[in-house]
Amino acid sequence: MSTLKMPASLPDPIINENAKIVLKRRYQRKDADGIVYESVKELFWRVASAIAEEEAKYDGSSYKPAKLAREFYDLMTTYRFLPNSPTLMNAGTDIGQLAACFVLPVADDIEGIFDAVKHAAMIHKSGGGTGFSFSRLRAKDSVVGSTGGVASGPLSFLKIFNCATEQIKQGGTRRGANMGILRVDHPDVMDFIKAKERDGELNNFNLSIGLTEQFMRAVEKKEDYDLVAPNSGEVVGQLNAREVFNILVNKAWESGDPGIVFLDRINRDNPTPKLGEIESTNPCGEQPLLPYEACNLGSINLGKCYLKGKNGHDSEIDWEELKRIVHLSVRFLDNVIDASVYPLDQITEMVGKNRKIGLGVMGWADLLYQLKISYNSQTAVDLAERVMKFVRDESRSASKLLAKERGEFPAYPESVFGEANLGPYRNATTTTIAPTGTLSIIAGCSSGVEPLFALSFVRNVMDNDKLVETNPFFEAAVKDADAYSAKLMEEIAKVGTIKKMDHLPEELRRVFVTAMDIEPIWHLKMQAAFQKFTDNAVSKTVNLPNSATKEEIWDIYWKAYEFGCKGVTVYRDGSKISQVLCTGDDK
Ligand code: ADP
Repeated sequence: MSTLKMPASLPDPIINENAKIVLKRRYQRKDADGIVYESVKELFWRVASAIAEEEAKYDGSSYKPAKLAREFYDLMTTYRFLPNSPTLMNAGTDIGQLAACFVLPVADDIEGIFDAVKHAAMIHKSGGGTGFSFSRLRAKDSVVGSTGGVASGPLSFLKIFNCATEQIKQGGTRRGANMGILRVDHPDVMDFIKAKERDGELNNFNLSIGLTEQFMRAVEKKEDYDLVAPNSGEVVGQLNAREVFNILVNKAWESGDPGIVFLDRINRDNPTPKLGEIESTNPCGEQPLLPYEACNLGSINLGKCYLKGKNGHDSEIDWEELKRIVHLSVRFLDNVIDASVYPLDQITEMVGKNRKIGLGVMGWADLLYQLKISYNSQTAVDLAERVMKFVRDESRSASKLLAKERGEFPAYPESVFGEANLGPYRNATTTTIAPTGTLSIIAGCSSGVEPLFALSFVRNVMDNDKLVETNPFFEAAVKDADAYSAKLMEEIAKVGTIKKMDHLPEELRRVFVTAMDIEPIWHLKMQAAFQKFTDNAVSKTVNLPNSATKEEIWDIYWKAYEFGCKGVTVYRDGSKISQVLCTGDDK
């Protein structure tokens, strides 16, 4: 617990109805009988004060902890910025593990595999998600030297990780989430692609195939490519790249799994290649990390950075305010690194070397609604680039300022920045765009950089609580247009979109588009626009109607590659019964 006393003048936060339920269920502290003893105000003060207190150990700091705690409190309780869930849950408590994202190595021996299972369980208990590459495991049926028997292969071990996750249930916080990645040149790649054929199988995993540049070129030329045994480095077979890509697309069409990640591209942006190769991301794909690395995330609510036009001027983005929030948020996330207690020494060491943080944005669709810009337009895509460039530039300049106060990240001299004399920075990366599945509920904003799923809908939160939500900007605009009626809102809640409601003003229908109204190409263009200025990756789902064809998915996967994305996830309406996460229903 922090020693900073809660000021008597601290204002009570305003909390939306959905947030009340979520906070109470998962975030506010409970006693041994499960009785909540912490108010929401106390929760935010617990987090603000614990993170601000880290400031005291830096002599060169431009802040006093008490003043900073108040600024952090205001930043969070006005929903301008929120740190990832584990920070909200655990800061200032005995658990003290504050990061959402971890990647663990899986070695090709029984001890290494079960070490990883154990370490994942420890991370899940504290609310973090884990990513693994299974590419180092020898293929099914290859010989095991010590016993003369045959190996069972990555897939059978994956089931053990899945089962262990199922049993942990995260001690009442949230159920675990994993990413499993296999390189496309692993001999078991076909089994892996088909691993989630049956619904419910491996339901605690998102799976992705790690694609290489060489593979993509072979797809283009319809050539064969080599399968390589990871334990011996020998070429043990060949597959036709185009055929593998087609099967990948078919499976994604059927169930949304597997996704794809472009490994070479991820490693091209690895800021510290001398510390190792990146082989996996966290569960939702937005955070590539080195083995044993962790990263804490935080998201700025762009919906709060809207400046209403005065005296005949157009409305615009409040750039000054955005800059202020970015600088304060970077300080917050850098302090989180120090405040966090990591479950393994190897992780503490790795995090200490690179000090990665992942500042991102949420409320993007809300901002566009306020600016009256439709999501599926070049204007929106151009603005996305401008906003994210601003966030990246300012977060880097904040990281530079911190480096002056506190020193650069220890691996800086051997990083790409150090070698090009670009820094020094305090953090090896500063930007990541998270899904913000729960944060967006707490902040009452649209999630990440996604369009709205529906203008009005019934949300299932956690164990069957039902919450009705109408987007506030939409409601206000309908009232402004004199089109509001209870009957109309009921109609909209049934279908979610107003695309086909010809009786509504054209301007409303242009601006208030939803995920399903947006053609896939605009989803991708938006993802690519944000990716261009994001150090890590962008969490984004390309939503498709049930009627979408396999050819369309082929096209999306290919364009994601051409547009410079680091990976892509598609979701065809109705194709998946259970989803690992990011929908708010398991949080
Ligand atoms: P939140 O809004 O709760 O902070 P996000 O939806 O933005 O979380 O997800 C960010 C990351 O947090 C994920 O990529 C994953 O690493 C981790 N995460 C999310 N949900 C879970 C979960 N149920 N269990 C474990 N980790 C999770």
